[in-house]
Amino acid sequence: LPVLEQVMRMMNLVAQEKGVEMTYDAAEGCTVLAAKDEIHQVIYNLVDNAVKYSAAGGAVQVSLRWRSEQVVLEVADNGAGIPEEDLPRIFQRFYRVDKARSRAAGGTGLGLSIVQDTMEKRGGTVEAANRPGGGAVFTVRWPYAKEGERL
Ligand code: ATP
Ligand code: MG
Repeated sequence: LPVLEQVMRMMNLVAQEKGVEMTYDAAEGCTVLAAKDEIHQVIYNLVDNAVKYSAAGGAVQVSLRWRSEQVVLEVADNGAGIPEEDLPRIFQRFYRVDKARSRAAGGTGLGLSIVQDTMEKRGGTVEAANRPGGGAVFTVRWPYAKEGERL
């Protein structure tokens, strides 16, 4: 099973429990040079955040595409988004926007730093932004590798 599908199946249970709707749209042939575990960790951390920082009734949309020589994964939610002043810092180890609320939500604040380390190691990038209509969107870009592992 492709990694994205594995993560979506697993996270669907958590999302349903929370009343968050998850949809995904994946193009064929999105392969990259990375271990399956690394790909899993990247997708899992982003989808976990999207669900975790969404409220009941929220929607998480994941898309996987390729453009020229890049494989592009987007994870978008319509939660509270990320304050502009925190955007440059959320990839730092242990950095969390709302200390109290984050503690209640569980976790350590390491997820995004792991995503960034892995992407750097594999020659890719990860970026965070706020959506015009509210919510956050994370974009991951990997170099396309014909004989690589399937996302
Ligand atoms: P862990 O991933 O270790 O369980 P965490 O989710 O708090 O803990 P990160 O994944 O590194 O840690 O995220 C860092 C911080 O960035 C979060 O605490 C949260 O404040 C913010 N953040 C990340 N993703 C989102 C999102 N989709 N919407 C709003 N805020 C987010
Ligand atoms: Mg996280």
